[in-house]
Parts: sequence; C-alpha cells; structure tokens
Amino acid sequence: MHRFSFASVLLLCAAAGASSVEPLVDASSVVKGLVVDLRYATEDNFLKKKVYPDSARCLLRKSAAAKLAQAAQALSAKGFRLRVYDCYRPRSVQWEMWKILPKPGYVADPRKGSNHNRGAAVDLTLATADGGEVEMPTPFDTFSEAAHHGYQGGSEASRKNRDTLLKAMEAAGFKPNRMEWWHYDLPGAGQFPVLDQPFEAAE
Ligand SMILES: [Zn+2]
Repeated sequence: MHRFSFASVLLLCAAAGASSVEPLVDASSVVKGLVVDLRYATEDNFLKKKVYPDSARCLLRKSAAAKLAQAAQALSAKGFRLRVYDCYRPRSVQWEMWKILPKPGYVADPRKGSNHNRGAAVDLTLATADGGEVEMPTPFDTFSEAAHHGYQGGSEASRKNRDTLLKAMEAAGFKPNRMEWWHYDLPGAGQFPVLDQPFEAAE
C-alpha cells in the first residue's frame, strides 16, 4: 500500500489546480497577426537539430496568451507584429535538448524545468506589418553580451527595436530576461507545474 504524506497530497492538489485553472491555449487563436516561427521545429537553432514534432504550435498558459494579445495590439498601432520563436516546451523535449547540450545557461536542467516547460515563457521578436524581418541587436539564441538588454553597441535602430518590444511586453505584464532580449516570463511563473503534455493535447 502506498502512503502519501499530507504535504505531498497538498502539493499534488496545488499542481493540478494551477494547470486546470490555466490551461494551455494556442496563442495563434488569441493573438492577432501572430507570426509563428518555432525554431526548434526546424534545424535553424543553436542545437542544429529539429527537436519539436511537426505538430508543434505556440501554446501558452491562458493568461500569458491574453497578455501577448495585449502587447500585439499595442504594437500594431506602431506598424509591428509579433514573431514567436518558442512558447511551451514539453519536458521530454527539454530532456532531449539536455542530452545534446547539458550546459546550464544554454539549456535548462530538465529536472528543474524552465518556464517554457510551464507554458509561462515566450521567446519572440518584432516583425513588420507584412511579417518581414525587423533588425535586433543579435539573432535569436545568441548567448553573448550583445543579447543583454543593457547592451549599447550595434546599430541605433536595433536598440530602438529591442526597446519597443520591451516596452510593449512590460506594459502587457511580462517580465524581461536581462541576458536574453527575446525571452519574457509571466510573473509568478514558478507557481505553474512543469508539464509534459504533447502539443496536440490543448485547446
Ligand atoms: Zn526563452
């Protein structure tokens, strides 16, 4: 017979509660004009390997998708759209990435999980009204000082674009990552459990 401590039962309830209150939703159905460019569903990423299945979509916790819609609306008034590089990431994929590159700072340890595994983080950039490229200080997933928010090098236009994205995301309620201009978290992301739900299984 299995015996669970009272604390572990409480933890299980809290985890189940957070995921049932906040399901994962397809951000494309909520965010107007969203350009979906999931790099891990291609070989065009820092691992040089396709680690997402063809069924991958931009899934986010419902409140994160709502905040993203708010940011997109504010940016559309300035002639921009949002292009997402990564959203929810199943934990099994986190293990696959860890096996390819077990290096904290580049890949989150799957035992702890990242906020992407919680559906509470998004990697993104700006796009033009017709979905074209917008200059930023670095390409996505560049791990160098040039990717930091405080970086003052590069072109003036790239810094201005980075700050335009930052202002819109902060106004919508996201928290920036100091070292990655493309990464934004939902405040209190840690309250959400790490998931291994497949991409197909969402609203
Ligand atoms: Zn990220």
